[in-house]
Amino acid sequence: MRKIMGFAVFLLTCSLLGAAEKAPLKVFVSVDMEGIWGVVHSEQTSSESRDYSYARKWMAEDVNAVVEGLLEAGATEVVVNDSHGSMRNILPQDFHPRASLISGSPKPLSMMQGIDGSFAACVFVGYHARAGTTASILDHTISGASIRAIRINGLELPELGINGAIAGYFKVPVIMLSGDVETCRQAKAILGSELTAVEVKEGIGRLAAKLLPAEEARRRLKEGAKEALLKRDKVAPFKLGPPLNFELEFQTSAQAEMPALLPQVKRSGPRSVAFTANDYLEGFRLMRAIIALAAAS
Ligand SMILES: [Zn+2]
Repeated sequence: MRKIMGFAVFLLTCSLLGAAEKAPLKVFVSVDMEGIWGVVHSEQTSSESRDYSYARKWMAEDVNAVVEGLLEAGATEVVVNDSHGSMRNILPQDFHPRASLISGSPKPLSMMQGIDGSFAACVFVGYHARAGTTASILDHTISGASIRAIRINGLELPELGINGAIAGYFKVPVIMLSGDVETCRQAKAILGSELTAVEVKEGIGRLAAKLLPAEEARRRLKEGAKEALLKRDKVAPFKLGPPLNFELEFQTSAQAEMPALLPQVKRSGPRSVAFTANDYLEGFRLMRAIIALAAAS
């Protein structure tokens, strides 16, 4: 009997210790491709092109280094959303065995699919600067062929801001971003100076960059993720509105014609349309539908 009691106390202690260790700490990661180490050209990021098979491996290596750092800092669950093009870039066999991968598209929240209020932090890996940035690899905003600028409440935002506001909607701070020097600068300016920015390359032009040595890039990604998660309380969630005024400026006047037919959308200029929303996710969804309509023109 005493032995059994002793064993029961042992089990209880173990489970209490286990519970103390395993308070959930969930991290959401959105991974794009243009800001991945090694990438300098669309012939690497487009699934039809020659060097794509290499770039998708670099993408997995960058994100795996980040996952490793997050786990070392105590993350109990890491969910990674593949966020570029077809969103089927990372091959499951190349992916970190202790993280979950969201693969494929379309997805209602696109690059932010999977996030909700249960996450403690959000990380952007391989992100790029907004359309119209000097010396930054493959600068664009959502769709290079259709979009010249996206302004929300008058603020011209790159994808890191548009997506950062989705994290903010769920009260989740964006604690870290990786990409080129210019993208890191935009991240700090928009999402806050306490964000950990990891520069894996320095843009020389839109299609040329000086890369960090590979080992050093992956070391900085891992250490950056670890540090960022440990000091996550220093970063405030990025919130916009309400009310929210969305303005989309297209590349051509033709692209504004079909979106302007929607009842809640008005033509705000020869190449632009605008609408207002009270809920950020509602506005985000309408914005995506408008971009799809513009692309079809
Ligand atoms: Zn992309």
